[in-house]
Amino acid sequence: ETPRTTFKRVMLKISGEALMGDATYGLHPPTVERIAREVQSVHDMGVEICMVIGGGNIFRGLQGSAQGMERTTADYMGMLATVMNALAMQSALESLGVYCRVISAIRMDEVAEPYIRRRAVRHLEKKRVCIFAAGTGNPYFTTDTAATLRANEMACEAIFKGTKVDGVYDKDPMTHEDAVHYPDITYDEVLSKHLKVMDASAIALARDNNLPIIVFSLEEPGGFRGILAGQGTYTRVH
Ligand code: UDP
Repeated sequence: ETPRTTFKRVMLKISGEALMGDATYGLHPPTVERIAREVQSVHDMGVEICMVIGGGNIFRGLQGSAQGMERTTADYMGMLATVMNALAMQSALESLGVYCRVISAIRMDEVAEPYIRRRAVRHLEKKRVCIFAAGTGNPYFTTDTAATLRANEMACEAIFKGTKVDGVYDKDPMTHEDAVHYPDITYDEVLSKHLKVMDASAIALARDNNLPIIVFSLEEPGGFRGILAGQGTYTRVH
């Protein structure tokens, strides 16, 4: 039996590194497929799904510029990396029978649709998963900000930030046994305590539009569906 959820439309944000598996670079197709199954199980609940996938598993603008590359050029390379991840996810979702569109903030019509807001909304209404690629299309931003921007534009009820841990802690729970989990936290606390939820511009954009951010673990099978049905451990930033 499919569990029930009150959510109708959500944004799922994952980092590029989530697609890497145990590797240190690039894409691990079985991991992409595992996450696609998580998305499929939420799609089966009737939820309309937007996705933003980072590009850090392939290229980060800041790393490029630290090695002498022009920052804006390096950032465009990072945005192109997110397109590759989006295409990998599209392929995995469609092989599971979930219809999906990749919508790019940078025009590349042979590869992905251009971003046209009302067209994207229509895809969602038709229960197609929309993967928003190429970030915001602007250098000096991140895919966290892109996820927040698109979530606002698509009128998502929340951003679900899938990570390796089941929420926000006062320190890294992987290395500190006494780390304290926060079930609820405010945007301002995230900013003032410099907690690594999303970058500051994304948090501010979510705060200014009252868009909740739900941080949860994508490691356990069924985790995404469970969180949408109100089960499991997570942190709600609001
Ligand atoms: N990027 C950008 N503008 C955007 C989104 C991303 O310039 O709107 C670039 C930036 O260089 C960033 C890279 O794309 O480092 C990859 O995105 P991000 O670091 O957010 O990926 P993640 O950490 O989520 O894998």
